[in-house]
Amino acid sequence: MALLLMLMGMAVVLWAAWALDRPRGPLCVWTLTSLFSIVMVYVTIRCGWSRRFKDPSLTLPQMVIAIACSATGYALMGPVRAIAFPNLLIILMFGMFGLRAISALGISIYALLAFGLSMALMASISPDVYSPTVEVAHFMMLVIVVPAVSVLSGRLSRIRRRLGEQKKELAMALEQIQLMAARDDLTGLLNRRHMVVMLEQEAQRSLRSGHEFCVALIDMDHFKRVNDRYGHAAGDAVLCAFAHTVQVALRRSDVLARWGGEEFVLMQSETSLSLAAATMERLREQVAKLEPQFAGDVLRISFSAGLTEHRSGESVAQTLERADRLLYDAKAQGRNRVVTG
Ligand code: GH3
Ligand code: MG
Ligand code: MG
Repeated sequence: MALLLMLMGMAVVLWAAWALDRPRGPLCVWTLTSLFSIVMVYVTIRCGWSRRFKDPSLTLPQMVIAIACSATGYALMGPVRAIAFPNLLIILMFGMFGLRAISALGISIYALLAFGLSMALMASISPDVYSPTVEVAHFMMLVIVVPAVSVLSGRLSRIRRRLGEQKKELAMALEQIQLMAARDDLTGLLNRRHMVVMLEQEAQRSLRSGHEFCVALIDMDHFKRVNDRYGHAAGDAVLCAFAHTVQVALRRSDVLARWGGEEFVLMQSETSLSLAAATMERLREQVAKLEPQFAGDVLRISFSAGLTEHRSGESVAQTLERADRLLYDAKAQGRNRVVTG
């Protein structure tokens, strides 16, 4: 777009200068130099050379070149020189999208200097066309308008930067929310919602690969008593201690989740039922070794579990139902045991 605007602006200048019979020599030099600069910028961007710079669209160099062309064009156009002003404003507006406030200020000072020089030069060489009074009026107008445009540019680029920062903050917040949505607050284990997704995924994987996996439904024994005797906070502490103990004892591929209340689900992927049963037994022994103390009493903790294998073709809900029935059996058989089926 910048390229097209420059080319069209040049075409208008050339047409006007031609019609007014302005000196041809300087016009030719101006046209060739401007075209050469435009082509150089275009080639640099198209070839990808500009990617090594911080701003690959070369906003600042493009503006420097365009303002130089505009200011020299002003000197060449004679009576219609004022058409350079809207052109200058368009160039400054391009800076709004890429420049920081300090660069926008620098470029506006440069524009004032370039145009001021052009005006002073022409007023002294050709005062009949470039009347000093008109040049002073033109320059004063530029002194008012150009800094105002650069201030607006600075504001716009601040807004853009702020938007960029907000986007980053939002992405971080989303990550945090996703983490929170998958975890249980108390124990830090995966929550039920996330575990259901993981179990479904594992079932799909097992359907494709034929690898088996096991699911255990775990329920703390007589947990109500802990709460009743020592309070809810003590119950919470026991749940955390249990979660930590089991988590530490597991393989990386095993997944433990808080299913709800004092119930947990353990998924052991690529594990046969006998191996999973051995793991459950080891966990049972380790949990039995936990001896949390509340109000001077040493507590004994135990759990009951129903352990089963996910069978090819069945749903995750069916596997869980079987594990639940086995857990019920474990409770019925006297608790503190793992029933496998
Ligand atoms: P059983 O051996 O038959 O499982 O006995 P139980 O007392 O563990 O069984 P029940 O399901 O009747 O009681 C579970 C208790 O777990 C009830 C509830 O107060 C407690 N509980 C559930 N969630 C939490 C929790 O987040 N924190 C605490 N402290 N207690 C909880
Ligand atoms: Mg329960
Ligand atoms: Mg219980």
